[in-house]
Amino acid sequence: MSEENNSFDVVIIGAGIIGAAVGFELSKRGYKTLNVDKNPASGYGSTSSSCAIIRVHYSTIPGTALAYESYYDWKNWAGYLDAEDERGMAAFHETGCLVMKTKQNGYLENICANVAALDIPFEHWDAAQIVEAIPAYDMKKYWPPKRMEDEGFAEPTGGEVDGAVMFPNAGYISDPQLATHNLQRAAEAKGGTFLFNKSVVAIPQSNGRVSGVELDDGTMISAPVVVNVAGPHSAIINEMADALGDMNIKTKALRQEVVHVPAAPGMDFEDNGFVISDSDIACYCRPESGNHILVGSEDPDCDGHTFVNPDDFNRDFSDQWTTQAHRMAQRIPSLGIPSKMRGVVDLYDVSDDWIPIYDKSSVGGYYMAIGSSGNQFKNASQAGAIMAELIGYCEGGRDHDTDPMTFELKRVQHNLDVSAFSRLREINQDSSFSVLG
Ligand SMILES: Cc1cc2nc3c(=O)[nH]c(=O)nc-3n(C[C@H](O)[C@H](O)[C@H](O)COP(=O)(O)OP(=O)(O)OC[C@H]3O[C@@H](n4cnc5c(N)ncnc54)[C@H](O)[C@@H]3O)c2cc1C
Repeated sequence: MSEENNSFDVVIIGAGIIGAAVGFELSKRGYKTLNVDKNPASGYGSTSSSCAIIRVHYSTIPGTALAYESYYDWKNWAGYLDAEDERGMAAFHETGCLVMKTKQNGYLENICANVAALDIPFEHWDAAQIVEAIPAYDMKKYWPPKRMEDEGFAEPTGGEVDGAVMFPNAGYISDPQLATHNLQRAAEAKGGTFLFNKSVVAIPQSNGRVSGVELDDGTMISAPVVVNVAGPHSAIINEMADALGDMNIKTKALRQEVVHVPAAPGMDFEDNGFVISDSDIACYCRPESGNHILVGSEDPDCDGHTFVNPDDFNRDFSDQWTTQAHRMAQRIPSLGIPSKMRGVVDLYDVSDDWIPIYDKSSVGGYYMAIGSSGNQFKNASQAGAIMAELIGYCEGGRDHDTDPMTFELKRVQHNLDVSAFSRLREINQDSSFSVLG
């Protein structure tokens, strides 16, 4: 990068789905932006492994409202981007999302109250409707979840799951990396810049404010504003900026395994399947190309949490893969489990209450969009918009810590109190404390 070109209004550390969205939303508002990423292309970090499920139900009203507003952007992706991408546009498969009613999730009473309060459509299904939609399903209860090696694993525990809620405004993005590339192209069309294969190694400061970033090749980039969107590396970047001091909510990298298995014989899950969240077997799933089923974990206590160094963790499958595959087979007894394990091993950037941090910091000009906790891919567009507005708000002289910004979610017609995502908040006890947010 030449000397005259290394000065920006905002440097964004990271070019994953949220980092790219922050770049796009700021460029749209006229800021001169640079997204720096140590990977060779956008969306190559944890975004590349995302299950990219789009759903509108969350355990809190702010989470639900944000997800529903973001849903409209996926629904109108090309219009939202207002730009071309030579690779084409990522597709939103709007299949709907079925959530089993269980004792563990309070039979969805809280979730249904949240969506009803925001006029989000949903339907109650009984067991007969569930089995009609997925004939391979067996509704026996298996809760509490166990590890494969535990006595009683895969043995029914009595009774049947007898209902679920279908949220029709939901589905998945089949190619999360392409969606990120789409955002990169959209940002570039508005004047945004991206720099790859470069690591940020320092965040210089003077008089209590950031002055830019230093790259691993010694290049200094100057900018009055720096945004941490480094995904599972978020805590490392916060430490680099010396911004951890006042944070009440912190972030850590959590290892996750996602299973891909062929659908059971006779099951056309690719064309007729949908997203399913099933707390009785502690799994969620969605259709995957090639008539596969992608199976993620809903993080039951018995599995424990493996927090890791994001630069040094095991990317091989473990018996977690097999446990998850067998949990899915509890619900689909005809599911064949291949000996060759397929899927992904990657990291969530988990916050203490599994709710993200979209905030300023104690350091002038330093902001963060982090702690996405395995559930913020879907909210990238609106997270980007919130960060762009927050930067304008704070750099314009307001103090978001003492005088919190509200953000208008126009299509949902909801004024979001952005302090719900503050680093200073108390742990939100309404959270599911899981990937469900
Ligand atoms: C297995 C899995 C399944 C998921 N499923 C879903 C789902 O179904 N639905 C949903 O909504 N969300 C889901 N998520 C969460 C979602 O994918 C993430 O919240 C989202 O992708 C995070 O995007 P990001 O831009 O914040 O981070 P990332 O994509 O991780 O990008 C951060 C970038 O920062 C870069 N970086 C880090 N440090 C530096 C440095 N020092 N210098 C330069 N660059 C740096 C990295 O190279 C990386 O590219 C899932 C996540 C995982 C891992």
